[in-house]
Amino acid sequence: MDQIKTGKFIASCRKEVGMTQAALADKLGITDRAISKWETGKSLPDSGIMLELCELLKINVNELLSGERIMAESYDKRVEENLIAMRREIEEKNRQLLAAEIWIGAPATIAGLIMCVVAAYAEMPVWSRVVLISIAIAMILIVAFIAVGIEQKAGYYECQNCHDRHVPTYWQTNLAPHMGRTRYMKCPKCGKYGWQKKVLTK
Ligand SMILES: [Zn+2]
Repeated sequence: MDQIKTGKFIASCRKEVGMTQAALADKLGITDRAISKWETGKSLPDSGIMLELCELLKINVNELLSGERIMAESYDKRVEENLIAMRREIEEKNRQLLAAEIWIGAPATIAGLIMCVVAAYAEMPVWSRVVLISIAIAMILIVAFIAVGIEQKAGYYECQNCHDRHVPTYWQTNLAPHMGRTRYMKCPKCGKYGWQKKVLTK
């Protein structure tokens, strides 16, 4: 922070609003010597008085500390940067969700398949083969349903025709034919059926 720059800025803002040092000091309930010290860069207004000072000078604290007016343009840029950071965060969250789909789905599918192989080839009574295969199928189905739920909630599906990005319902997602995460569904915007790709952000 540049104390001299801030001081000069205070002086110029004070003149802009048409106040003498004495008048400003009077409004703030301090001595005009204190104002003079700020304006020559010998000291800074303390935080207890800053808001009131800014109000009188019609500036904000950020501007007071930077010693210059902050253009709306650079303010917009900051808002934009925040939006980009937020978008990145959402993208990362969705990426983690999709990774979870694999971490949950893959081991259960492999375990289920192993159980089916064991049931088919190992020596055991018929009833236990039936029980084992039933458990394997139930487990794969339950995990698949959970995995589709994760996939449906993470990010969006993009229509290849109108490029609308949307979130279909759970059952639309689950019942749609798919290759990986690309699903054949009806687009809610243009109404056409097509292969819709998974995307992480809107
Ligand atoms: Zn569409």
